[in-house]
Amino acid sequence: MEGLKACPFCGEQPLFVKVSRQSKRCMVICNNPNCGIRPESSAGTGYSAVKKWNTRASGWISVEDWPPVCDQLCDVWHVNQFGEKVRACNVMWSGLSWYVELDDEEPFDVLKNSKVTHWMLAPAAPEA
Ligand SMILES: [Zn+2]
Repeated sequence: MEGLKACPFCGEQPLFVKVSRQSKRCMVICNNPNCGIRPESSAGTGYSAVKKWNTRASGWISVEDWPPVCDQLCDVWHVNQFGEKVRACNVMWSGLSWYVELDDEEPFDVLKNSKVTHWMLAPAAPEA
């Protein structure tokens, strides 16, 4: 079986669990109590549960798979009012809308005419 990728939200190694003894259903879940999201992926077999987890845990995450994390810098792809696919960086999800924080101003609702389709946590700045 391929290795499990770390949780994309907290970086911890997830747990692999068999849901029940009767079925083959399996689940990969982040078991870190400090993880803001504690995502999970379940599927009919262990193999597909791992595949599903690893697909979600790498790169862009569909908002339908996992809702965005609140108040963290994210990069997103969205479809704007003209139907164009556009990337936006350093935006944050409030739970209701995407915003950016500008100095001395109220958070600004940046993507209100767009539909965000994918997101990922913005990579950390390089050290030194
Ligand atoms: Zn986690």
